[in-house]
Amino acid sequence: MSNDRRLDIEFAYTSFQDSCRDLFSLHYRCRRPLGHHGVHAAGFGEHRVRWTHHQDHDLDTPLPTH
Ligand SMILES: [Zn+2]
Repeated sequence: MSNDRRLDIEFAYTSFQDSCRDLFSLHYRCRRPLGHHGVHAAGFGEHRVRWTHHQDHDLDTPLPTH
């Protein structure tokens, strides 16, 4: 299974409310599950984007509390 296919499935099973929502741009917020490992990702097909969070940017959404 390709990494893109894996992300498609991850997105499909993650509601927006349960997603990471790290901000990439006005149109893209991370759609991976909250607390995921590795890069943030959003979008489908050729619009798929991946990014790492910049430490000097504030988090757009609060970190989960454990
Ligand atoms: Zn993320």
